[in-house]
Amino acid sequence: MNTKWVEDELKVIKEKGLYRQLKTIETPPEPRIKIRGKELLLLSSNNYLGLASDDRLIQSATEVLQSFGVGSGGARLTTGNTIWHDQLEKRVATFKKAESALLFSSGYLANVGVLSSVAGEGDVILSDELNHASIVDGCRLSKAKTIIYHHKSMNDLEEKLRMTSVFKKKFIVTDGVFSMDGDLAPLPEIVALARKYNAYVIMDDAHGTGVLGEHGRGTAEHFNLEHEIDLVIGTFSKAVGTEGAYVAGKEVWIQYLRNKARSFIFQTAMAPSIAAATITSIDIIEQNQQLRQHLLRLGKMLRKQLKLLGFRVDDGITPIIPVIIGEAKLAVEFAKELEEQGIFAPAIRPPTVPIGQCRIRISLMASHTEEQIGEVIEVFQRVGQSLGVIQ
Ligand SMILES: *Cc1c(COP(=O)(O)O)cnc(C)c1O
Repeated sequence: MNTKWVEDELKVIKEKGLYRQLKTIETPPEPRIKIRGKELLLLSSNNYLGLASDDRLIQSATEVLQSFGVGSGGARLTTGNTIWHDQLEKRVATFKKAESALLFSSGYLANVGVLSSVAGEGDVILSDELNHASIVDGCRLSKAKTIIYHHKSMNDLEEKLRMTSVFKKKFIVTDGVFSMDGDLAPLPEIVALARKYNAYVIMDDAHGTGVLGEHGRGTAEHFNLEHEIDLVIGTFSKAVGTEGAYVAGKEVWIQYLRNKARSFIFQTAMAPSIAAATITSIDIIEQNQQLRQHLLRLGKMLRKQLKLLGFRVDDGITPIIPVIIGEAKLAVEFAKELEEQGIFAPAIRPPTVPIGQCRIRISLMASHTEEQIGEVIEVFQRVGQSLGVIQ
């Protein structure tokens, strides 16, 4: 078959500076990693609390690996459901202060499965313009009318809610913490508008879980709104340090989703060992405030210093610190220079972020030290000056 169109398409991607390639890491996601034998400071992992290679998680996983084997062998509704899955669902429900919870194999599948089964023809979904791609895809699959509101603009959201009285059900869907900007959804205002216009609120707390709130329960705990969100979705692949995902909410929602969400029904259950490690991780997250405090303190330090150097960095409280560079090629050049000088933080380009807002997305881990933050500041200053990004 003729593949010229494929080659042509790849050429276009390359000309725009948007060609993507894999980088292969030879070590666990800890502050010092190795790529092709070269040691680098990892500054772009979602392993926010450093739990992905924590000994306690490894031990839980190993024990269950030995007693239950590697694969689950089936979907939850057929033969894949074990005591570890049931136990993890219960643990997530108490952690999230919800009646019930349902596991998915990934956050992507959770968003797609939840949105496509709760919203349908004749319904409307109001979605923040910077919501994660998996929310966008869930909206598309749902067949509901999707209306995008300006990022965090409550005036725009209200204006759009006002025009939606013809729809049967209304949903507002938002990230809790926005993945590429590290800013928080204005949850109190969203909840108030939802009540006023009779809409459900669905929040994806991928980056808030484990990081925000006194007990790490996430964005809803941060705002003291844990009982006000209809459905909270989240992944275990970030601060929790494992993989898989959940949705938490009222028992009826969970029963409904168990029967309707196709990405739940037709997906093999997560590995029992991973479920066990996830339970251990949630226990650690709830009990260890110091991990979070250290992480957030490092974030504050780094934001302040980068701003002082003249970089475009917004105020914020999360460990996600985007440094806006601008055009794709310059951002790629910046990332390449960082790597030359010992820091691994890739450039983020369209379609992940808007055109002209390419960035280095820094994400910190609780396993980073203050000395390492000092190292980051020095390297950013050198690279920023040599490429003319700062004076
Ligand atoms: C990472 C992420 C997801 C996807 O989660 P996976 O478990 O990696 O599939 C979904 N939503 C948001 C906001 C994310 O950042």
